[in-house]
Parts: sequence; C-alpha cells; structure tokens
Amino acid sequence: MQGRIHSLESFGTVDGPGVRYVVFVQGCPMRCLYCHNPDTWEMNGGTLMDTDYILEQYERNKAFYADDGGLTVTGGEPLMQIDFLIELFEKAKAKDKIHTCIDSSGIAFNPNNPELMAKFDRLMKVTDLVMLDIKHIDPEIHVKLTSQHNDNILAFARYLSDKDVPVWIRHVVVPGYTDDEKYLYRLGYFIGELNNLKALDVLPYHTMGEVKYEKLGKEYALKGVPAMTMNEALELKKHILEGLKDRREGKPDRTLVE
Ligand code: SF4
Repeated sequence: MQGRIHSLESFGTVDGPGVRYVVFVQGCPMRCLYCHNPDTWEMNGGTLMDTDYILEQYERNKAFYADDGGLTVTGGEPLMQIDFLIELFEKAKAKDKIHTCIDSSGIAFNPNNPELMAKFDRLMKVTDLVMLDIKHIDPEIHVKLTSQHNDNILAFARYLSDKDVPVWIRHVVVPGYTDDEKYLYRLGYFIGELNNLKALDVLPYHTMGEVKYEKLGKEYALKGVPAMTMNEALELKKHILEGLKDRREGKPDRTLVE
C-alpha cells in the first residue's frame, strides 16, 4: 500500500526514544497558527511511497536504530492515513520487531465511527508509543488556535489510556497563546487522569517556520511573536505538573474552586 509522504529522515533524534527513522506524512486537517510545517498541510501533495520501500530504507541503517531507537511516523497528520499506517507497522513488527511510534495531534480519532475504531484497535496492537500533541485544553481557544475542536483529541488520550498504550504528551508554549497559567494547570489536571503517561514534553515556540509561509505565499498569523527559551518553557511546565499532581492526589481542580 502507498502513502502520501512529505519527506523521510534517517537519523531523527527528537521524534521518540533513541535514534529513529522518521517518516513525515503529507496532509493535515488542522491549521495551528504556529505550525512550522505548513508545507505538509495539503492532503493531495507529497510523494506516493510504498510501505515496503520505507522499510527497505529503514533496514539500510537499522544498526543505528537497534539500541532503543526505531521508526516514527509524524507529519502532517499520520492518522489521516490509518490504513497505510496499519500496513507499515504490521510489517515492521513482523519483519524485525521494530519499535514503532506515532507523533499525532489526535484529530483523526472519532469514537462514534465503529469502522474507524476497529482500525484504531488494530493499529494500537502494533504501536509501541504515541506522542500526542495537545495544543490547548480549552475547547473554544483550541478552535481559534487550530481551526478544529479538541473533543476527539481528548477522547483519543482517554482511549490510549484505556488501551494502555504508552504516551508522551507534548505541548508547545507560545507567548500570549498557550502560556496562560490557568490553562496549563487544566491541561495537567486532564493528563493526570491518564494511566499510561510516560513523559511530558513542553516545547518552546520558535519562529523557524515563518520563512516557509513566505515561500508558500501564506500569511503568518504569529508575525512578531517572540520565540520562547527552553528555560521559560520549563518554568511554565511547572503549572502543568501542579495540575497533574492535584488530579493524582484526588484534589479538586483549583481553577474551578478559586
Ligand atoms: S497538527 Fe501539526 S502539522 Fe498539523 S497544523 Fe498543527 S502543527 Fe501543523
């Protein structure tokens, strides 16, 4: 089966544990204001590639991934091409027990679609890790930030918890957009209910994507918003951890009782 691929990277170090072969798929229905890969949005773009071709490329350098690395599919939105992903991961597991990871926004999840849910169930049997990007915990702000609702994204997080699929939650902190203490706390309070959380990555906003918008002739909505430092992001992470801790200790959401 073929998938629509934006690009391939042989030695990824930020897309899951260890050194990884990274597949960037083409196509994403979200429109995050801070997206640094707007060139992956178009659903019909990219290059058609076969699952066997991708695994052959993986095999060429497999010694590099052997320790604790593996195969990551990111994007774009990988789960928009779930049939392709199922075939790729099932072959990866059958061939070499490759460690498989999906980096996703969760937007393709829909618990009200039984046919799709059967596919998710099948995919999760061959998925070792999901890196789930939660863009914003507040439903209305999420729509303004991404053009999509977050209910199915949060449902996906709960589904992964129920299925006991290991999860890294990721959150990008953007000055003035996603750095509000109250919402960071609420994000933490939400993820505190998940029983499969293995890591929490709070990533500082950077402006490196801006040039891509110029090239594509698209307006960059965050023009002038300054980049954030890692230290600033780590300070903000504390609010998420406070929410998480309160949830795990059975305390009420302090942003609702104050
Ligand atoms: S989900 Fe990812 S690829 Fe899609 S618009 Fe948002 S940041 Fe960009």
